[in-house]
Amino acid sequence: MSYPFSAVVGHTDLRLALLLNAVHPAIGGVLVRGEKGTAKSTIVRGLAALLPAVDVVQHCRFSCDPAAPDPDCPDGPHTPPNTPSHTVRRPALLVELPVGATEDRLVGSLDLERALTGGVRSYQPGLLCAAHRGVLYVDEVNLLHDHLVDLLLDAAAMGRAYVEREGVSVSHAASFLLVGTMNPEEGELRPQLLDRFGLTVEVAAARDVDTRAEVIRRRLAFEADPAGFAREWSTSDAELAAKIVAARAALPAVRLPDVELRRIAALCAAFEVDGMRADLVLARTALAHAAWRGSDAVTEADVEVAARLALPHRRRRDPFDEPGIDEQQLQQALRDAAGQAEEPEPPDDGGSGAPSPDQSSVDDSDSAPAPAAQPDPAFRARLLELNGLGAGAPGRRSRARSAFGRTLRAAPAGGHGLHVVGTITAAAPHQLARGRSGAGLVLRPDDLRRAVREGKESNLVLFAVDASGSMAARRRMSAVTGAVVSLLLDAYQRRDKVGLLTFRGRTAELVLPPTSSVEAAVARLRRLGTGGATPLADGLLRARKALAVERLRDPRRRALLVLVTDGRATVAVKADPVEDAMRAAGLLAADGVASVVVDCERGPVRLGLPHRIAEALGGACVRLDELSADRVSGVVRAMRRSA
Ligand SMILES: [Zn+2]
Repeated sequence: MSYPFSAVVGHTDLRLALLLNAVHPAIGGVLVRGEKGTAKSTIVRGLAALLPAVDVVQHCRFSCDPAAPDPDCPDGPHTPPNTPSHTVRRPALLVELPVGATEDRLVGSLDLERALTGGVRSYQPGLLCAAHRGVLYVDEVNLLHDHLVDLLLDAAAMGRAYVEREGVSVSHAASFLLVGTMNPEEGELRPQLLDRFGLTVEVAAARDVDTRAEVIRRRLAFEADPAGFAREWSTSDAELAAKIVAARAALPAVRLPDVELRRIAALCAAFEVDGMRADLVLARTALAHAAWRGSDAVTEADVEVAARLALPHRRRRDPFDEPGIDEQQLQQALRDAAGQAEEPEPPDDGGSGAPSPDQSSVDDSDSAPAPAAQPDPAFRARLLELNGLGAGAPGRRSRARSAFGRTLRAAPAGGHGLHVVGTITAAAPHQLARGRSGAGLVLRPDDLRRAVREGKESNLVLFAVDASGSMAARRRMSAVTGAVVSLLLDAYQRRDKVGLLTFRGRTAELVLPPTSSVEAAVARLRRLGTGGATPLADGLLRARKALAVERLRDPRRRALLVLVTDGRATVAVKADPVEDAMRAAGLLAADGVASVVVDCERGPVRLGLPHRIAEALGGACVRLDELSADRVSGVVRAMRRSA
């Protein structure tokens, strides 16, 4: 029994975004951003319950529409339409994609092993198939592997799912209302993925006491008697369901007047969105909203609603811009767009397009404190790579055994997927002995060979940054933070997890525990305070502790420690500052932590301490000015003594 959609308190934007997608699925789904515990999944479930039931071909695993079956349906071809006995009606489904899902689970699996040895039909449909003509709900879509998000969004855009293995491919219709949720604190989606969701909504729990009280009151009533509660709201839910059906039917006849089309184009131009996708999404959303209102033409109000839902996540031009839309900026753009929208016709009473000076002069300069050290401009960083072969999450940093890499060889076990040539080669010598007579090979399970693949993995990059007084001298901190920002940008592109630890004064501080949010790391770095003594040993010990915790949480992800320092330790843990630092470095090396020391020492008198620490760490040492790929070519390998 799902919580009735019409009983939801607040969340006006989210409910509207979902309803508009239900009216016009081509809008492209909804991305819901916000903290946990905001009833996102309850609302989405409620929506699924409102969707009209679907007619499907009986026994078709792919939910073909009897009126228009998929000509390429793997269970087809289906008997001609209008044979009622072959039709069943069932509710539209809500399918949930768990974060840990595999590619097979999502798109289905093509079991070539079974097909070859058993001669059976080998395509097992996945969740994309189950979601066809319903809702696909992906909680924490930002934590889903990029490769799966790509597959998901491709299917959503094309309305078809494709499964391909070793050159054999199967496809089926998969059109669904896609709803993703994410908590931005846990890491952003890549901008190019963000852009592919039709609409975005920010959600937060209500702060207002009356609203919160009403939320709890209804929730308790629902839990005490779900059926009774649902009965109470069944009339309003039925009204909404009927309104969806009516709006769907009316949609094809809704007009988009030229003036509104121009307004949309002007808005998208003003927000400097990439490509034409935003214009299309805005137009579709405005059309759906007009149909929802029962109007036969789009008006400015429809465009404004569409802009508020469709533009926020398309506005960003840099991965480190905060997504979101500023209400004032939107109002200003709407005023400006009004002038351009009506350009082809003579202005009626004039003046509507002029920006008002009191609005344009307002900005948010009081929102952020002045940065401690303005970072130097970012550069393209050299690759810092771990030695050896990992088995971590796919990415772009270090070499790894991976399901997504290139095939190296065939092996009887292990690896990822079937190696067809290897399998046939293994079976070929036995064909006579096995009494082969026809054209097909006689295969046995022990002929099967697996493909051993190698690709790239992402890593955890923990930055330990010396922010002490000796580093802060002579604008050096600007160069240091500029370099760390460059390395963070690089980590973002390589899909690493990052963490940031700083040390100065008496102790070290884990400013940012390991996270996928590189944005958060950059933000913390820009607020970094500097000055004071150099507790280098404490910094290293703190790093060791953080890495140990991370090894427990995510054992397959290999870590790289990037220590940024001039090595001039001045605070001891036990005895001597430098000796303590060396001892701490030795402990990290014994743990098997790979590391790179960025040598920030400058000036006429150099002590060479960073080199000594790198040696104790068993890692590489590279000078600050050797980090730019445009100045020095080649990979920096984080060497460590082999265990
Ligand atoms: Zn079918």
